[in-house]
Amino acid sequence: MFEWVKRQLDKIGSPNLDWVQVEVTTYCNGACVYCPHTLMRHRWANRHMPIELFCKLVPFLRNTDLVYLQGWGEPLLNNDFFEMVRICKDQGKRVGFTTNGMLLTEDTIRTLIDLQLDIIGISLAGTTAKTHNQIRKGTDFNKVISHLERLCKIQIEKKTRVPALHLAYLMLKSNFHELKEILPFAKRIGAKQIVVSNLTLIVDPKLLEEAIFNDTVHTDYYRNALDEIRHRAGCENIIFEYHGPGLDDASICCRENVHRACVINVEGEVVPCVLTNPVLSSYYTFKDQSLPLRGMSFGNIRSESLTRIWNKKEYARFRDLFDPETRRKPEQIRSQMPQCCVKCYKRLGA
Ligand code: SF4
Ligand code: SF4
Repeated sequence: MFEWVKRQLDKIGSPNLDWVQVEVTTYCNGACVYCPHTLMRHRWANRHMPIELFCKLVPFLRNTDLVYLQGWGEPLLNNDFFEMVRICKDQGKRVGFTTNGMLLTEDTIRTLIDLQLDIIGISLAGTTAKTHNQIRKGTDFNKVISHLERLCKIQIEKKTRVPALHLAYLMLKSNFHELKEILPFAKRIGAKQIVVSNLTLIVDPKLLEEAIFNDTVHTDYYRNALDEIRHRAGCENIIFEYHGPGLDDASICCRENVHRACVINVEGEVVPCVLTNPVLSSYYTFKDQSLPLRGMSFGNIRSESLTRIWNKKEYARFRDLFDPETRRKPEQIRSQMPQCCVKCYKRLGA
């Protein structure tokens, strides 16, 4: 009885979150050259989040705006994916996910539209087939584009604007020159937002030189080019977001919204960001150091409510380190940060 009452109170007191990111699978049909899924393939644990586990989370999303079904894998491979979207939509949540675009068949697109999915993000690493396919191996640029054109057509036919199409462009030294084509491309397929990200998790040291923040000689060139695209995007009513291109060692900000968001990994572990997900068990390269990737979980939704996990003292203390209104000195905050945050390109502004 007492447990039942506590659970009801936990539902009412669900944390106020901008979004919760849920890793619905770690399976993937892609083999992108930079992705831990590819680079750790010999010991990668492929699994889907069972719907029963997903359902344990839902009652505690009462005060969460957006549920983003995304982790280290291709979400559409989970057979329960549509059911997960439906459950969240029934609860009045906004729902989104990012996909490599290969499985967007006509039936899938129609189902996603009928479910009133809010956001679909498409991962790109170039605006030509040659560049994109070389980096995002296992995916096919032309096929992805034909799927997006089909999405546009069906949206017109059904007289709907959902889901909003977002482009997620991984910016590397070798594909930066193609970014200038992203705007005409976005217009052609009806994308409303472009998010350009950096290579912030470098598992293979050979990729260090691909991260544009390491190309410090050309930082101004990158900055000017990105500013210019953002300006042009603004004129077209398209949101263009990017981070960097330089690094700030003294920063105490984190590019992830750890203060008002969290990630639930495929096993149900509640972690502050995708980089602290325990499914990543390997080494990464930060500057000239090879460091172990250590997971950081504050609890598991199998055995505890999200409310209780969010309110734990150790989790609150961790979030306080990234409180935008803190009055503590940066050096004091940095000295209390876990190693994974101190040695993290996202903390440095990437
Ligand atoms: S599609 Fe996504 S999860 Fe799959 S290999 Fe590429 S980056 Fe990794
Ligand atoms: S600083 Fe890096 S490791 Fe720490 S919470 Fe932010 S993204 Fe995650």
